[in-house]
Amino acid sequence: MMATANPNNCPRCGSWNTGSSIGFNPQRINNDETLVSDCIFVCFDCKCEWKAIGFRLIASSAVGPPSEEAQEILLEAIKSAGQLRIEILDDDLAS
Ligand SMILES: [Zn+2]
Repeated sequence: MMATANPNNCPRCGSWNTGSSIGFNPQRINNDETLVSDCIFVCFDCKCEWKAIGFRLIASSAVGPPSEEAQEILLEAIKSAGQLRIEILDDDLAS
């Protein structure tokens, strides 16, 4: 069995109707952009939440694609993050 480590895909119901809500360990890149780690994702269909450990994301307050600087930092961060792990947060409610 192959692990599907795509944090945008709901690990419980398989929906793609998801979004990221919170990231941790913000590292400021410039006035508009911040590198965040280990984001919490939510599924809008089954309402479950999961943490994508090892996931890195550029949070930006600016419109448009991330800057070259941010993309480089993101790439390096992803390389050093290791393997992505998905952890469902409200597992107790599952049954
Ligand atoms: Zn779901």
